[in-house]
Amino acid sequence: MSTKKKDIRALTKEQLRDFFVKEGDKAFRGNQVYEWLWNKGAHTFEDMTNISKETRQKLEDNFVINHIKVDQMQRSSDGTVKNAVRLHDGLIVESVLIPTNTRTTACVSSQVGCSLDCRFCATSRLKRMRNLNPDEIFDQVVAIDNESRLYFDRPLTNIVFMGMGEPLMNYNNVLKAIDKITSPEGLGMSPKRITVSTSGVPKMIKKMADDEVKFNLAVSLHSAINEIRTSIMPFNATFPLEDLREALEYWYAKTKNRITYEYVVWEGINDTKRDVDALIKFCKFAPSKVNLIEYNPIDDGEFQQASSKAIDMYVQMLEANHITVTVRRSRGKDIDAACGQLANKG
Ligand code: SAH
Repeated sequence: MSTKKKDIRALTKEQLRDFFVKEGDKAFRGNQVYEWLWNKGAHTFEDMTNISKETRQKLEDNFVINHIKVDQMQRSSDGTVKNAVRLHDGLIVESVLIPTNTRTTACVSSQVGCSLDCRFCATSRLKRMRNLNPDEIFDQVVAIDNESRLYFDRPLTNIVFMGMGEPLMNYNNVLKAIDKITSPEGLGMSPKRITVSTSGVPKMIKKMADDEVKFNLAVSLHSAINEIRTSIMPFNATFPLEDLREALEYWYAKTKNRITYEYVVWEGINDTKRDVDALIKFCKFAPSKVNLIEYNPIDDGEFQQASSKAIDMYVQMLEANHITVTVRRSRGKDIDAACGQLANKG
């Protein structure tokens, strides 16, 4: 065929049904194929055994199924698994399986590279190449679900959009993927088990609130002082804390869903009492909790994790102000699978 075949998973169920009607078949055929694609994880049209040979040929003539391929899988000594995922056009993204005693969390990517320039993050060194399609996001989740069943004998329990890329800069596709993940025709997971992490794009946070999304929101805050935040996350100059704050208040008013702030404490950057005071003030705008995450060094040593004394000060002051705070240890560091280390090194 000379014309380029379409990725069948870019079609909605309605569009699939329409295709069959146009071909003189029953609309119901569209439902069957849809189920093969999204629920039964068919990789080829051949797999669709309750579809006639003739119909499968018709699909073959018109469409392709662009499946991701796990190119390389690395296992950390702590059980963390990192997948290097090859997309249909040869580009690579990474996703991570993080096991604990009771959970398996998938950390998935939303873009190839990233357009933001957070100075402490390895992914920012890769320029943004393109957005991931909904099926490419969905497939990462399925791959990790399979690995969880294989290695830990249980299904995937949680999903975080904390891999490569800024999910709110690929909002439509992220939303479509989450739709497939949560729908009974897809994986049937509860949105309560999904967290989208953003560096904080105010307009999109408001849009999410308007769309009445049911998943959780995490914001990579790292500083509640504009000048400091801009020095480590330069896009903060465009989306300053006042705008972020307004969007988060809007989010909470609409969703009543508490916000998580992700925060790394670095030596000489945000390790003083003034920094904690600013954070406490920011936390009072909307119900929230703070995750203090360990810094995962990326090559050049410009940033250094603050002393445990500084981290203790954060914990004590936050708790004294009745703000929930957790200190999170990193996983998968030995295979560059921890937060901010995803950079396609392999
Ligand atoms: N773009 C989104 C999601 C990807 S980053 C966001 O900014 O939230 C996922 C989390 O890892 C963010 O909280 C980010 O600030 C954090 N992170 C980035 N680099 C890190 C590093 N070197 N060490 C620890 N956390 C890092």
